Amino acid sequence: MKKVKAPLPKALHQLTPAAPTADTAHAAYIGHRSRCRACTDPTKRCADGLRLGAGYLELLRQEPDRRAAQALAEQEQRRAERRQARQQPKRRAAEWADVDKAVKAADTQRIESVRGARGPIFGLTLLEDTPAELLKLPSGRVV
Ligand SMILES: [Zn+2]
Repeated sequence: MKKVKAPLPKALHQLTPAAPTADTAHAAYIGHRSRCRACTDPTKRCADGLRLGAGYLELLRQEPDRRAAQALAEQEQRRAERRQARQQPKRRAAEWADVDKAVKAADTQRIESVRGARGPIFGLTLLEDTPAELLKLPSGRVV
């Protein structure tokens, strides 16, 4: 038997960070201001403080577009899910139609192999003992 190796999980530095949002950029900016000595003075900012503040303002400006794009993507996903749900019964009917003949042949072969057998056979119900409604195939035909 061949041993299958489980894939190794990625190291922390290999993971892609989540896309920054205005909220996370604001939290980073506020966090920096509370820790940075230069930025605690309300009139001064260090280079990092300026960069974080500008990044926050830029993300804040892009937020309406980002939300609109996200709403559009969610709408498209719901539409695709509804389309898939509509196609499901048709696909199942087509799959049953594909295997209907083979299923009937297998059932017939199974029943023929025990025709005339005497006594109960464990795990097998003879055709004569099967209720009529169970002998109907999904296509409506009767076994
Ligand atoms: Zn700073």
